[in-house]
Amino acid sequence: MAQNILFLAHVDEAGMALPKAAFEALGAALDIAAQLGSTLTIGLIGESVQDAANSIAATGARILGVSGADFTYPRYASDAAAVAAMFAVASPQIVLAPGTSRLLRVMPGAAHRLQGKVDTHITSLDIIDGALSAKRWFYRQRLEAVIQRDARPWVLLLDSGCHQAWAGSTAIADVQVVVVPLSATAKRTVFAGVRTPNSSAQTIRPDAKLLFVAGAGWGKKQADGKTHLPEAETTILDFLRNSGASLGGSKSLVDQTAEDQAVLGFMTHLNQVGQTGSTPRHPKGLSTCCHGEEPHVVGWRFINERRAINLDPNCGWARGKADVLYVADAFRVMAKLNSLLAEKARIQEDSRVDVGKADEPVPIGRT
Ligand SMILES: Cc1cc2nc3c(=O)[nH]c(=O)nc-3n(C[C@H](O)[C@H](O)[C@H](O)COP(=O)(O)OP(=O)(O)OC[C@H]3O[C@@H](n4cnc5c(N)ncnc54)[C@H](O)[C@@H]3O)c2cc1C
Repeated sequence: MAQNILFLAHVDEAGMALPKAAFEALGAALDIAAQLGSTLTIGLIGESVQDAANSIAATGARILGVSGADFTYPRYASDAAAVAAMFAVASPQIVLAPGTSRLLRVMPGAAHRLQGKVDTHITSLDIIDGALSAKRWFYRQRLEAVIQRDARPWVLLLDSGCHQAWAGSTAIADVQVVVVPLSATAKRTVFAGVRTPNSSAQTIRPDAKLLFVAGAGWGKKQADGKTHLPEAETTILDFLRNSGASLGGSKSLVDQTAEDQAVLGFMTHLNQVGQTGSTPRHPKGLSTCCHGEEPHVVGWRFINERRAINLDPNCGWARGKADVLYVADAFRVMAKLNSLLAEKARIQEDSRVDVGKADEPVPIGRT
C-alpha cells in the first residue's frame, strides 16, 4: 500500500533558512518517498516560512506552512498544535523530521497525540523486503538496531550528519497556509531569551571538519613542576579560532570545571565526549592531553580519522584506538600548530589584499 510521507522542519534561529540538518533529513525523505512510490508533503513551521519554502521548492513536493509570531520560537504547545494541524491536512502514514532540539522536544508528544509511534536518533532509512526500516544505535553507540514497525503513523527523527543534504536551486514556492488557532493556554509559555553556558566563546560546532578534544593533562603539573592553565586556555582558544574546530573535553576535565577547580573556563559538561557524554560526528579528531580510556573513546565512535598527542607512549590511544599517536608535549605541538595556522591565514589575507588592489578601478580622465 502506498504510504503518504510528511516531512516536517522549522526555520532556523535567524528566522529565514532551514537548518543544515533539515536538508539532510529532506534528502533521506525524498529517497524513501521515491523508493516507496509515496507522495511527499513538506510542512514548515516558523515566523515566516516563505524563504525556507523557496529554498526547497525545486523538490516539487507540496509545501504546507504554519507561520506567525506565535511560531517564531520553540514552544511545546504551539509546535505540537502546528504538527497536528499539518498532519490533519497531509494524512501521512510516515512522518520524517530532522532531530533538532526543537523537534526532539515536540515530536514524541505529538506522535502520542496522533496515536502513533515515534523513534528518535535514526541514522539511516532503508527499504528492506519492501518495508521501511530505520537504524539507530543503542548502549552508547555500541549496538546498532534495525527497526521495522507495523504501527502507523510512524514518526522518525533523523540525526544530523548521516545523509547527504538535498541541494537544489531556489524557486518561488506555492505555500499552502495552514491556520492554527491557539488557545490562551497554548500561549501560556513565553519565550524569554537564550541563556548559554558560562562560556564566552562558541566552542561546539557540529558542522566542523575537526573535533579537538582536551583532556585533564592540560591542567596537570608539567615538566617544570607547575601547572600552566592560562597558557593552556590561550593555546586552545587560539587553535579553535584559527582552525574552526569544535571543542570536546574528557570527563575528568569537565568534572574539574564543575567542581570549581581552576581549570579551563570555557569548558562545560556540554563539551564532554564519551560514554556519559556525546558522540559527535566529524571527519577528523585530535585528542590532546587525554589518556584515551574506553569510556572516553566511546565518544569517538563516529570520528573517521583519529589522532592523539600524549607524553606517555603507553597511553590508551597507543593501543589501537588512534590512527596516529604523537608522543609529544601537547603545549609545544599546539603552539607550533597555532603559529603555522596564523602564518597560513596571513598569506591568504595578503593574497586577498593583492587581488583587491589589482581589481581597483583605474581612474579615467585624470592626469
Ligand atoms: C561509568 C563511567 C563513565 C565514564 N564516561 C566518560 C565519558 O563520557 N567521557 C570521558 O571522557 N570519560 C568518561 N569516564 C572517565 C574515563 O574513564 C577517564 O577517567 C577519563 O576520560 C580520563 O580523562 P583524561 O584522559 O582527560 O585524564 P587522565 O586520565 O588524567 O589523563 C591525562 C593525560 O594527559 C597526559 N598529559 C599530561 N601533560 C601532557 C602534555 N604536556 N602533553 C601531552 N599529554 C599530556 C598524561 O600523559 C595523561 O595520559 C567514565 C568513567 C566511568 C567509570
